[in-house]
Amino acid sequence: MKKRVWLTVVVLMACTAFLFMKLSTEEKAGYVYREGKAYLDMTIQSAAYDSTYSPVDRQLQLVVADNVYMFIENVPVVQINNELFPLAEQDFFIQNNRAFISASFLEKQEPSYVKLKAAYAILKSSQSSEKAAQAVSTKQFTREEVMQYMSGLTPPLENAKADTFPSHLPGADRTYRHGFHEGLDWYTYSAGVVVNKETEVYGMGKGKVVRVDHNYKPYESVEQRNKDLAYCKEVQKTPAYILDKLRGRQVWIQYDNGMQARFAHLDQVDEELNVGDTITKDTLIGYVGNSGTSGEVQKDNTELHLHVDLLINGTLFWKGLSQEDVKDVLISQLNNNE
Ligand SMILES: [Zn+2]
Repeated sequence: MKKRVWLTVVVLMACTAFLFMKLSTEEKAGYVYREGKAYLDMTIQSAAYDSTYSPVDRQLQLVVADNVYMFIENVPVVQINNELFPLAEQDFFIQNNRAFISASFLEKQEPSYVKLKAAYAILKSSQSSEKAAQAVSTKQFTREEVMQYMSGLTPPLENAKADTFPSHLPGADRTYRHGFHEGLDWYTYSAGVVVNKETEVYGMGKGKVVRVDHNYKPYESVEQRNKDLAYCKEVQKTPAYILDKLRGRQVWIQYDNGMQARFAHLDQVDEELNVGDTITKDTLIGYVGNSGTSGEVQKDNTELHLHVDLLINGTLFWKGLSQEDVKDVLISQLNNNE
């Protein structure tokens, strides 16, 4: 009798230990399955991953050896060492404030990392921390550097002049979303040309398409959009994932000279345009619209304009410039009338 009790206790303990080990192994490996695809949870065990997740921006930074990756929820582009690359929709997602990257993406990008990861190795080099610090620092460019970079670009709208209307300039307040204007605007009343849904938008320079929103999904209602704007107020900034929704239908270009463009609020994108395509200044990108704006959800045809963010290796080009310098750069490099 006594023997049997002991045996039961031992068996129970063994089972418990086995289950505990199994569970903790799974948790350590961090694999999660979704529609048959394996993902790594980047928000647990940050010591192992060297990742930083911002729940407000829904943005993940991951450092692997020399490479710094940046992901944002529902943005089909990954930034790797300040260069933009297309990202398959299913390779990154956020759920319950946890960020997941598909194992297949990481295996392809960082084969040795995944192997180490599987063994639950801690991968952290002084080099990677340095790189991470670089990635979050805001590198700025001088007027001369910006002029040099911008000289490779042409205006996106035919016959348009540089639009230097104060609120269209970068850095202008955008109080409705508790942020600032990241890029340039072209409106009918200030660009010297009619800007509406018939206005063609061109590629500006030689580069590669990294994003085309063929299947753009607008906000479903004014309320949905207002909900996001209320969150902007709550956190006193425009979170990265909301900013992306407010930009509406987009095309992103990685130019050969290191610059990048985000064409925003488009009504249509060119049907023939695809991710991976090589483009020039003469390539038709799409048509002006008001997607992402209040005009789109209110269906009142207002807010029709072109918005373009221009970046140099991941940094907004104007960050180190005075307002006067920004105007000078735009007038000398993006003016069709001079
Ligand atoms: Zn704008």
